[in-house]
Amino acid sequence: MNAIDSLLQTSFPSVMVPMRESVVALDRPGERLLIAADGVYLEVVRSWIRVVRRIAKYDVATAIPYGRVDAVTQQLCGPVPPQLIAEFRAMARKDHPVEVMAWIVWNALTGAFRIVQLTARSQGSGHIEGYQRPDLAEGEHLVVDCHSHGAHEAYFSPTDNDDDVFDVKFAFVLGECGSDRPSTAFRLCAKGIFEKSAVPLSWRSVLGAEVA
Ligand SMILES: [Zn+2]
Repeated sequence: MNAIDSLLQTSFPSVMVPMRESVVALDRPGERLLIAADGVYLEVVRSWIRVVRRIAKYDVATAIPYGRVDAVTQQLCGPVPPQLIAEFRAMARKDHPVEVMAWIVWNALTGAFRIVQLTARSQGSGHIEGYQRPDLAEGEHLVVDCHSHGAHEAYFSPTDNDDDVFDVKFAFVLGECGSDRPSTAFRLCAKGIFEKSAVPLSWRSVLGAEVA
């Protein structure tokens, strides 16, 4: 095969899921397609997370002699410290109604989390117009991409969807930031997969939020 396709297929292989044993998890950062009995799954691994989700089903009820796969979310970095969410809450309240953006990052070499506020090129009470990605130390990875909606409700806008589509991260939005009970929106983003969920329980006490 030609060199470019060969390289692409090596970096993003397809795996036939065995029927009589579990498929062995990918043990390094990367992506694979897992071809299973009930469809095609995407496996995404980063140093801080492993995600497996079904991304396609078969249109025809033909017999596929492959095994089954479970949807998996393994947060390898451990839980995000609620104190960092409290810090983001404080940033969002201080700058309200101006929107703020921050990354919660995790260092795979030290195991430490920290939060870093991003500087936007043009920032206002509308949407943030582009921002500079922060300088990360060696071993640091984005885990939670946080932004606020100022006085507006928290939700994921079409712009947020465009921004998040290629990333592997959690996305967190805080809205109505001047209120004692801000609104929240939270989701897992993994290479086009968007999966909304309630904010983690441990975050709720520091937010006082009407939990979405
Ligand atoms: Zn937004």
